[in-house]
Amino acid sequence: MSDSGYSQQRVTRSRVQPSAGFESDRIAGILTTLEAEYGSREFVSRGRPVDVLVETVLSQNTSDVNSRQAFESLLQTFGSLEDVAWGSVDRIEAAIRFAGLSRIKSVRIRNMLQRLLQENGSLDLSFLASLELDAARRYLTSLDGVGLKTASCVLLFSLQMPAMPVDTHVHRVARRLGLIGVRVTADAAHSELEAMVLPKDRYPFHLLLIEHGRRVCHARNPRCAVCVLRAICPSAR
Ligand code: SF4
Repeated sequence: MSDSGYSQQRVTRSRVQPSAGFESDRIAGILTTLEAEYGSREFVSRGRPVDVLVETVLSQNTSDVNSRQAFESLLQTFGSLEDVAWGSVDRIEAAIRFAGLSRIKSVRIRNMLQRLLQENGSLDLSFLASLELDAARRYLTSLDGVGLKTASCVLLFSLQMPAMPVDTHVHRVARRLGLIGVRVTADAAHSELEAMVLPKDRYPFHLLLIEHGRRVCHARNPRCAVCVLRAICPSAR
């Protein structure tokens, strides 16, 4: 199936069973169980691709609250991202101080905005939606400071392309559930999880694994006794 099948109709999923044989059944069972627990996740755009790109760079190593505050401060200071591109690094750094690592991030943001303007004549990245998923991701990861997770966030949350961002929660929960090996890095997990999760399911799968990681499958003390996935989890305590 092509990745462009993301928008196809949702299929009925079966409830999770400990004996589920095929990986696709297991993924479907996990999704159904987490949706029953936390509610379904329908697509909501997070804005223009370039906005999501800058916000995601700002979110590296900090909370969503801090990165959102930094992004709003950046726009208040400069008025637009086009003006950020030609602003001084010192001024950008001051505007995004809430996000931490503000020197590094200010240089990266300015450089990437300048390159996008020079290459495309604008900050409109909607052309990425016409590319194959891997080609669109390659373009974004060619920007300094943009890794697989950031690129996948832009493609998924702005352009509704079927990318699978693997953050710390998705990585941890997927490893504990045995979906990926314990030595599989977060970067390598992007392609592994995309290979096993249907394009149309990647958006809810990503969000629900994060929700589960935040609420139940904590990094230090996972709450296995109350976990709805404990019957199929090889790491359940
Ligand atoms: S059973 Fe425990 S380790 Fe497995 S997913 Fe649930 S909380 Fe995480």
